[in-house]
Amino acid sequence: MLKLIKGEFEMKPSDLSIIDVLDFKPERGLVELENRRVLIFDGSILMELRRMIVENIGWEECQPVIFHYGYEVGSLDGKSLGEMYQWDTQEEWLRAGAAMLTQRGYCKTVMNHFSLNPDTDQLVFRGRWFNSYEVDSHKHLKLTDTGPVCFVICGYLSGFASVCFEREVLVQEQDCFHRQHCSFEGRFVEGWGEQGIRFMEASKDHDLQHKYLQLNKKLLASRVKSVPQKDEAPSFDGTPHKSPEWLPYRSKSMTRVVEMAQQVARTSANILITGGTGVGKEVVANYIHSLSLMSKSKFMAINCTALPLALLESELFGHCKGAFTGADRDKKGLMIEAGSGTIFLDEIGDVPLSIQVKLLRALQERKVRPVGCNSEVAIKARVIASTNRNLEDMMKEGKFRADLYYRLNVFPIHVPQLQERRDDILPIARYFLSKYAPGSKGFSPRVAYVLENYDWPGNVRELGNAIERAGILAGNKKIRIEHLPPALTAGEEVSALQQVKEGWPSLGELEKKYILSVLEYCEGKKMKAAKILGIGSNTLWRKLKKYQ
Ligand SMILES: [Zn+2]
Repeated sequence: MLKLIKGEFEMKPSDLSIIDVLDFKPERGLVELENRRVLIFDGSILMELRRMIVENIGWEECQPVIFHYGYEVGSLDGKSLGEMYQWDTQEEWLRAGAAMLTQRGYCKTVMNHFSLNPDTDQLVFRGRWFNSYEVDSHKHLKLTDTGPVCFVICGYLSGFASVCFEREVLVQEQDCFHRQHCSFEGRFVEGWGEQGIRFMEASKDHDLQHKYLQLNKKLLASRVKSVPQKDEAPSFDGTPHKSPEWLPYRSKSMTRVVEMAQQVARTSANILITGGTGVGKEVVANYIHSLSLMSKSKFMAINCTALPLALLESELFGHCKGAFTGADRDKKGLMIEAGSGTIFLDEIGDVPLSIQVKLLRALQERKVRPVGCNSEVAIKARVIASTNRNLEDMMKEGKFRADLYYRLNVFPIHVPQLQERRDDILPIARYFLSKYAPGSKGFSPRVAYVLENYDWPGNVRELGNAIERAGILAGNKKIRIEHLPPALTAGEEVSALQQVKEGWPSLGELEKKYILSVLEYCEGKKMKAAKILGIGSNTLWRKLKKYQ
């Protein structure tokens, strides 16, 4: 096998040849890639396998499963190519992964954009693939789907990139199937937001029995039973309130949100609430309901993200007996069950296009047709939708229907991130403390400072979790810095110099110790560490490789 000596030659992705990386050992009946046994498959076998999985668990559930298969192959290839060759940069190494996709015959891959920004901790690479075997599979199997289909290939490049950057990278398709080529984009998984993180998690969870049980659980969790509204109405008026929906505020931006909610509450307009994850969109929706003329009726909420397509459709619109396997009786959908109350569609941006059409119809004609039924049922409920995604961008990409957007967006309300209204942090934190640890003695001044200055990417939800945890750890005592989650106090703990003073190490050892402790401080985020150290991430990467 052709093997280069590290450090003396550097390899270019364009030089990569599958013949060089494979070791043919016909005398033993083996083909190997860096000591891994490789089999040469017939494409039609993979197509058949795909058909079987799709038929058994449905296309939507199949996606993370086949993604995972690609991911495993990609990460093994990534490791092997990292061992076999010396790449000039992480980018070159990643490009070798794109080259391998081509050489392995999955598709022809062209990568045309790469950027890695240590300041914003962002990785973005884009490109196209032509002649994808997965597009062929779908055409051959006559599976009609409007979304992307190249999940094995996305998985492969995700796995490969995750090895290169020693951090989870997720590659997704922007466009697939309908054109001559597919276009893809890769980012650190956090860069895709919750949807990406969820998909990655789903791909690692490949126990199908478990998946089935989880679906059932999600179904239960996504349905919020009607909330009695009379005495437990959420309150924004600053008076202490027992209701879990109560959230204090004092910032100008939140005051504006509350005013808008009050203005629109007594109309019947559709409302679209936007804002990041955990900002409290459902609290606002619930508040509007409590002030509305429908407040005596039900408030039904559904998280549109949690459910697979078929389940979401029957949850929203209901079904008739015999509509599908397992439908042993008629079921009212939430749109009907909400009566003349409010239906809250959480994360509307995650609703697939096929359901968007039905929602639009329901809003326009005020009627729904339950799955498998011949007749239509009138609906009276007001619709409040929410999203943490940019629906206007999604419209441009063809992922969200413009007509539905304008129907929902009659009255938009934007709930700002917690970091844009720092004035609200302490009142909310105190509220959570009184809820989770009623006996607590409050926050130490240092804790109050840290709480107010942390960025809270998970917003109110994250703050609530942090305070609940701190309350448990502190018992009946004052909340101190050590009771806060490590992410909040990362800036408080650098004592690398203190450590090295004890051992008087050599300059080389000192460098190693310092680099490793900075890395620990950055929770393993290499770009952040490289920035603190004042060196390129590639230099850091090489040094770390040397320490292994
Ligand atoms: Zn594709």
